[in-house]
Amino acid sequence: MAEQKGGFVPRTRRFLRKALRYSGILFATYLLLVVLAVWVAGDDDFDVRLHDYVVNDITELNPVPMADVVAPTSVDEIVAAVLGSSGPISIGGGRYSMGGQTAIDRGLQLDMRDFDDVVALDADAREITVQSGISWRELQEYIDPYDLSVKIMQTYANFSVGGSLSVNVHGRYIGHGPVISSVKAIQLVLADGSVVDASREQNPELFFAAIGGYGGIGVITEVTLDLAVNEKVGRQTKTMPVAEYAEYFATTIRDNKDVVFHNADMYPPDFEQVRDVSWYITDEDLTIEDRLIATDETYWLLPKAINFSNSSGFGKWTRKSVMDPLYYAFDRVAWRNWEASYDVRELGEGDRSEKTWVLQEYFIPVENFDRFVPKMRDIFAKHEVDVVNVSIRHALPDPDSYLSWARNEVFAFVIYHSQGTTAADRQQVGIWTREMIDAILSENGAYYLPYQPHATNDQFRAAYPNADQYFAVKQAVDPDNRFRNKLWEKYYPTKRAEVREYLDGLDGYMKGEEQTFLTVPEWYLVFNPNEYADFLASGNNPSSFPYWKSIDEYWTLYDRVNALTDGLYPENTEYQVMLWVIGVSTTAEFVAKGIYENTIGRLTRWTASADTPEDLLIQEAHAAYGELIYYEPWYVFPFASYAGKIWTDTPFFGKNFLRKLERKLMFSAEFAFKALYAKAIGFGSQATYGPSAGFATMHVAGDKARIAAVDPRVKVLQDFGDGHLAMTAPRWGGFTEVVPQLATAGAEFVEINGNDEIVFTTVEDADSDATPAFARLLFNSLVISPTGKKRSVYVVPVADLSHALNSLAAQDVQLEHIFDF
Ligand SMILES: Cc1cc2nc3c(=O)[nH]c(=O)nc-3n(C[C@H](O)[C@H](O)[C@H](O)COP(=O)(O)OP(=O)(O)OC[C@H]3O[C@@H](n4cnc5c(N)ncnc54)[C@H](O)[C@@H]3O)c2cc1C
Repeated sequence: MAEQKGGFVPRTRRFLRKALRYSGILFATYLLLVVLAVWVAGDDDFDVRLHDYVVNDITELNPVPMADVVAPTSVDEIVAAVLGSSGPISIGGGRYSMGGQTAIDRGLQLDMRDFDDVVALDADAREITVQSGISWRELQEYIDPYDLSVKIMQTYANFSVGGSLSVNVHGRYIGHGPVISSVKAIQLVLADGSVVDASREQNPELFFAAIGGYGGIGVITEVTLDLAVNEKVGRQTKTMPVAEYAEYFATTIRDNKDVVFHNADMYPPDFEQVRDVSWYITDEDLTIEDRLIATDETYWLLPKAINFSNSSGFGKWTRKSVMDPLYYAFDRVAWRNWEASYDVRELGEGDRSEKTWVLQEYFIPVENFDRFVPKMRDIFAKHEVDVVNVSIRHALPDPDSYLSWARNEVFAFVIYHSQGTTAADRQQVGIWTREMIDAILSENGAYYLPYQPHATNDQFRAAYPNADQYFAVKQAVDPDNRFRNKLWEKYYPTKRAEVREYLDGLDGYMKGEEQTFLTVPEWYLVFNPNEYADFLASGNNPSSFPYWKSIDEYWTLYDRVNALTDGLYPENTEYQVMLWVIGVSTTAEFVAKGIYENTIGRLTRWTASADTPEDLLIQEAHAAYGELIYYEPWYVFPFASYAGKIWTDTPFFGKNFLRKLERKLMFSAEFAFKALYAKAIGFGSQATYGPSAGFATMHVAGDKARIAAVDPRVKVLQDFGDGHLAMTAPRWGGFTEVVPQLATAGAEFVEINGNDEIVFTTVEDADSDATPAFARLLFNSLVISPTGKKRSVYVVPVADLSHALNSLAAQDVQLEHIFDF
């Protein structure tokens, strides 16, 4: 035994085994400390809201901050709201449109949902007058006891009457066109506060502009509608190849006075087969006794079926071959009102932060149906569009409304698809949507406006050739363009719309607005190394740097920007992952450094009489790193070169040898590790972001010569006249240098990368109460070095950015950074 214990080899082996075991325990303890640090750090209690009023729609893709939201209950209150405000006004009905049609940044929204009374009913004449905020469902409940029905409405009953008129909607009704044909008269509140009546006989130009006018003419307050008789209807269904559908419709459905509702579903992914689902007037016994669908109905099956059929090719096949045949196997007889009272909730109400469900609609003249189908099919296949369903409807012509989408007899293709929510996903949907619009325009058709406004201005003009008539009426009754929303911001001819159109065409122009907030913690990892460099340069002991406070500050900023943006913007998974990667790696670094510097580092520092050349080189390296990361990604820093320098540029022997050697070993180990890590991260990031990430693109108003002379890095891309310019500026550190100079040169920013809010930080004395003009203080943040300072994080509307920046100088406040997107 003694023999065994002795010997060099067994002893070494035992030592190594022990060392391995202890280093394993040490490493596990270290990891535990890192996890604990991430857990404990941060600010869970922060609950400041970015905006008091944010209007969104069912897709959750269009959050728009509003200055105010008012819910009027009378015409007088609507007049008072219009006259009592001076900014833009948008109008919200049910808010089921899907592209910001009910909202405009920092405007007043009239939320019409409480303006919902029935004004008069003449049951014999089958005529009703209602306040425009009433939903179809509320109206159905009122008229059902009189055995009356809505004549034309959408499939679902959640929509408001005012919103439906403003879109000039269609339903599944046979023998009808858009809803305008069932409207007898409307009452409007105009921008000057006047209350006017309009019909085909009285103020017809207002009638034909406001119906289908998307809230751009004035507020539709009262509506008089024709009604129909509530009858029993029975469902009949039949499948056929899509090539036979147009002929089948013309001969079997179009002129059949017994058909009340009709639609035909095309099955993805090949769109070769359709299913006619028609409801005929019948005397048969009811299979559904309810007069209306119960409002407390719970929906669990259909959302699951939609998700399943949308999930894969197998899901789609199952829907076509198993689910639908089963669902339609049973006869159904119901009241017309029952069949017209569907609730949007049946489509599902799940989480839409990463994936959402969206509608689009295309109108094809009936004679061109067969030519459009293959074009649509090719675009879906080329772009791998995740189509849930294509439902075909029919509409007779509407020759009257100025923004008519049915200038001739048309089939409607209602497309329901899923999409991701990031700026890149939306851009991708924009690309194939514009191809679809080109395809429909090539067949003399039109596309529908209540959905995402991806169309170019030229496409809008081609689909709506009478838009000038509409704009002329708008100019006459709303000369200050007060009634506007995201749709009209894009298509009403203004300079802003013209520049936006150009910018939108640039690859990667649109960037998520949430990124101006999410970059705050990321930039802390620029500020903090600079504070570290400053801390060392001021002669401080690196062991005394507040490593824990730095970790806590990063996660505090992370928690705060997430609290501000959560639920307001779509989930930005890519950015969140990046923040976690840099946050966890920084925590790991600071935990290790904090422990090391407070043990071995402190000991060697205690043995040294002064800073060694190694200490000075380390200071130099951190200062250089701090400088570089303002302008370039951190991973391009020459870590390896500095790790070598500490051995080549400082003498090996000399005074304070212990400290010298320890610093050499510590620094070269740290920077060699960072060199490797930077290589790995740099490789991934280059692949993700590419070289085009280096500049910000914006719409600026001002004097072109002065603006162009500000800095050689500023490039005017296009001059739109009247001082409106599309231009680029450098990003990151360069952005913060150039933008204040542009502000001094009189530039007014209109939008930057598609966004109209931006974050900036200032650094000032801790007791300063200076406030930049127009900006809102979100919170203060820690400044470690120099001492006695605080960092203030502000958000400002892009339109006020110049004023805010120009106000800083007068208050002796130092701009630290503007967070581009
Ligand atoms: C699930 C689903 C199914 C749909 N099915 C159909 C369908 O079958 N047929 C069809 O045609 N469309 C359909 N749509 C589109 C929908 O019909 C339109 O978006 C319609 O506008 C919804 O009405 P709303 O009350 O939600 O209008 P909102 O979205 O609130 O408003 C639409 C437009 O009308 C304006 N507006 C609202 N109220 C007034 C007012 N009182 N005065 C002046 N302007 C006003 C708004 O400013 C906005 O521009 C569907 C949408 C969804 C989400």
